[in-house]
Amino acid sequence: MKERLESLKEEAEALVNKVSDEQGLLSIKARYLGKKGEITSILKEMGSLQPLERPAFGQLVNLVKDSLEKAVEERLIFLRKRVTEEALKGEKVDVTLPGRRMPVGKRHPLTQVMDDVVGIFTRIGYSVADGPEIETDYYNFEALNIPKDHPARDMQDTFYISEEKVLRTHTSPVQIRTMERQAPPVRIIAPGSVYRCDSDVTHSPMFHQVEGLMVDKGISFGDLKGTLKIFVREMFGEDISIRFRPSFFPFTEPSAEVDIQCVMCKGKGCRVCSGSGWLEIMGCGMVDPAVLGFVNYDPELYTGFAFGMGIERIAMLKYKINDIRLFFENDVRFLNQF
Ligand SMILES: [Zn+2]
Repeated sequence: MKERLESLKEEAEALVNKVSDEQGLLSIKARYLGKKGEITSILKEMGSLQPLERPAFGQLVNLVKDSLEKAVEERLIFLRKRVTEEALKGEKVDVTLPGRRMPVGKRHPLTQVMDDVVGIFTRIGYSVADGPEIETDYYNFEALNIPKDHPARDMQDTFYISEEKVLRTHTSPVQIRTMERQAPPVRIIAPGSVYRCDSDVTHSPMFHQVEGLMVDKGISFGDLKGTLKIFVREMFGEDISIRFRPSFFPFTEPSAEVDIQCVMCKGKGCRVCSGSGWLEIMGCGMVDPAVLGFVNYDPELYTGFAFGMGIERIAMLKYKINDIRLFFENDVRFLNQF
């Protein structure tokens, strides 16, 4: 039996060293080392040996199997290497070919629009103010004249960190914090991320706002109109007209929504503007005397205006984009267009 094992080993090794493709090699492996392979089956015949001889023979079979496995491994590596070499034969390196260009990144369209908005207002004398995105209930709501039971809280449902801490629903808390820190005159814009429990083609749970605030002696609604006219002209072009529609915000009185002439149809009426010829772009108003009171400004002495716009909304109108979610999918095919 020992001799038969020896001859099986030699026979298998010879075949392994001759085979010229991977498929053939694997079938040789199965023929000798598989479950019913010739070398494996020899173990079943051990019954005919003296009990004392069996362990030594079993060991020998395992040694033969190991060495054959190793031979198969080595042949496999050799064959694979040869395939690669064949494939590369005749290929030359052309050193005159141009190299592969690394793709260059660019600013996200929302960042571009945010920078544009900030640029317009800093050019007319506003400075940029910043504040925390996790706000206290006081700064996000109460100091803006929105007490706990006010219905306006429904429109601004947000994410609560705790009973008293929320993800800010607007950048307005920055206005309060700025007024607490300094005496008038105040002339700031507050850009940043804000959060609300909203998600559809025109709403995202995280979006961006730029708000503006001006407080000084003798500030009127006329100043507000003039300021926003400059903004719209710079952002959308000379020929776009604007209008103010009465509205309500808890922290301004009077309040207005600002519409611009539809950028798609130039006011003739189309699907985007629902035939009205106008598109809403922001809210604004004169700062409510109660809000000035919260920060200890004398409402008899000072007046001011505030305005706020969503950056996504401005970007969608400027670039004619119809789904807000495109901004956050990080698809470079979309982002490369701006
Ligand atoms: Zn239109």
